[in-house]
Amino acid sequence: MEECLFCKIIKGEIPSEKVYEDELVLSFKDIKPEAPVHVLIIPKQHISSINDLNEDNAKVISHVFSVAKIIAKKLNIAETGYRIVSNCGEDGGQTVSHIHFHLLGGRTLRWPPG
Ligand code: AMP
Ligand code: ZN
Repeated sequence: MEECLFCKIIKGEIPSEKVYEDELVLSFKDIKPEAPVHVLIIPKQHISSINDLNEDNAKVISHVFSVAKIIAKKLNIAETGYRIVSNCGEDGGQTVSHIHFHLLGGRTLRWPPG
């Protein structure tokens, strides 16, 4: 079976503009940014979506938010504000089946989303 796009990015088989990396997660710029700051934060472990999470994943998901805070500071949006989104399934707008968290900021974001 073809490996998923984000697993290929983790392995370096597909290039990405890395923003942060450690043993648990990788963060890189979204190829089609929807805001001045738009990065994705992904666990290195392949998990397809929120629907596939279990308690064993608690550490990495918690870590995603710790890393989001670090990146927000690094990219100067910690004070102005930002949004973290994880789309799940078809109605949620998920297009890549490797769980990921969008970190968006650098402009005023509308609510509710479309
Ligand atoms: P979602 O639609 O929530 O599943 O988010 C997937 C995101 O991945 C979209 O915002 C895409 O623009 C982004 N994306 C797709 N391919 C790449 C890539 N090769 N490098 C960086 N971001 C990508
Ligand atoms: Zn994957």
